[in-house]
This record gives sequence, structure tokens and C-alpha cells, in this order.
Amino acid sequence: IGIALLAFLFTAIIIVAYYSALNQLNKQRHISQIKTDFINNMTHEFKTPIATINLALDAIKNPKIIEDKEKVFRYLQMIKDENKRMHAQVENVLRISKLEKKELDIKKESHDMHDIVEEAVEHVGLIIEDREGTIKVNLKATKTTVLLNDVHFTNVLVNILENAIKYSPDKPVITVTSENIKNFIIIKIKDQGLGISKVSQKKIFDKFYREHTGDIHNVKGHGLGLAYVKRIVDDHHGEVMVESEKGKGSTFIIKLPLIY
Ligand code: ADP
Repeated sequence: IGIALLAFLFTAIIIVAYYSALNQLNKQRHISQIKTDFINNMTHEFKTPIATINLALDAIKNPKIIEDKEKVFRYLQMIKDENKRMHAQVENVLRISKLEKKELDIKKESHDMHDIVEEAVEHVGLIIEDREGTIKVNLKATKTTVLLNDVHFTNVLVNILENAIKYSPDKPVITVTSENIKNFIIIKIKDQGLGISKVSQKKIFDKFYREHTGDIHNVKGHGLGLAYVKRIVDDHHGEVMVESEKGKGSTFIIKLPLIY
């Protein structure tokens, strides 16, 4: 019996040691994953402002434009706005790594959703101009007050708009609408682009998921944009959905509760 007990204790010690080592390893992996996610998120969030600043600088360098004081002022203002946005993001992006740990504490204030939509549309103005596209805005909601973090939510809409432009052939046509259903405001961003297959629709909100688009125009990305979108919308007690058919464009739908 003594030997059996010893053997049992020995086995138990080995098992406990094994699992504690495994646990330690998992913790380390988790931390390293958070670090990687943090860097990826940060890179992603800076892509749009940097691209916009580059386009604005190129535009100012154009000899025809430099003569036109009004245009120069408009582009300088854009550079200033994007710079401000990046500055705000340094603060906010620091919180993104916490998303993984579900410790998100995003400050929310009451805002007019239409202001946020218009700001996001303005942010992608130069990118849409560059692709010779148009964004039609048709905001019909009459109740528009929501509780949100304006920087994060502008990013959410910019991400969706940016995708709508990215995953469309040249001269993209995008429609942004709003409406009220019960105590919600519904924002729809519709494109006439590549569309998303039914199988992919279930995965696009996962981190790092990218559909193989056949690279019709060498589209770049990290597969993080929509994962970020979903986390932020979830954190606002909202819902984000997609309706799409391969080859026939996509509609991204955001549903947010009104506060009045
Ligand atoms: P990224 O654009 O960096 O790849 P996202 O998370 O923003 O990452 O999007 C994930 C995937 O969803 C994309 O790779 C693309 O395949 C698909 N997708 C997103 N938006 C659209 C859209 N408007 N039209 C077609 N496909 C889209």
C-alpha cells in the first residue's frame, strides 16, 4: 500500500507540474498574442489618416492647385484634421489591446449619429475622389441621439466605408442611409462591389479573416478592420450585420439603441 501511495503521489505531482507549466506557457502565448494584436490594430488604425495626408500633400504639390488658395486651405485643413484624429487614436488605440481581455472601458457621450456619419464620410472624401467614386448620403432618421465614443465610432464607419471603396471596381458608388426602427437608429452602407459569399459572411468579423478576392486590384489589408468594428459596436450594445451576394455588392448594417 505504501508503494502504491507513493506512486500515486508521484504521478499526481508530475501531473500538477505538467499542467502548471502548460498554464504558464498559455499565459505567455496570450500576452504575446495581445502584443501582436496591439501592433496590428495600431497599424491598421493609422492607415487611413496616413493615406489621406499623403493624398492631400500630393494634391498641394500639384502646380495648378498651389495657385488656388481655397483648395490649398481645404487640403491643409484635411491634414490638420487627420493629424488630430491620429493624436486622439494614440490615446484610444492604447485601449484596444484591452478589447482582447474584455476590459474595455470606452468613454461614451451623447452624440447626434448623423454628425458621426457625416464626419466619417468626410474622412474618406479624398480616397473616394482618388478612385473617382461617389458617396450618396441620404439620412432619413428623425431620432438620432445615441451614446457613443465619437473617435471609435467614426473609425467604425470609416472602416466600413474604406472597405466599400477598396472592394469595388473603379468609380465606386456607395450609398449611406439612416432610418429609425423602434428605439434604434439603423445606418446602412451599401456598395456595388465584389460582394461576399455566404460562407465568408460568417467569418469576416473574425480577426485576421480575409476573403480571397482574386486580387483584382491588389487590395491590401490585415483582416482586422471588421473585427474591430464588431468589438466596438458590441461594446455600444449595438449590432453589425452584412447582407451581400457574390458579385452584387454588399450592405453593412449598424443598429444602435437611441437614448431618447
Ligand atoms: P481587410 O480589409 O483588412 O482585409 P476587414 O476585416 O476589414 O479586413 O475585412 C475582412 C474581409 O471581408 C476582407 O478581406 C474582404 O474579403 C471582406 N470584405 C469586407 N468588406 C467588404 C466589402 N464591402 N465588399 C466585399 N468584401 C468585403
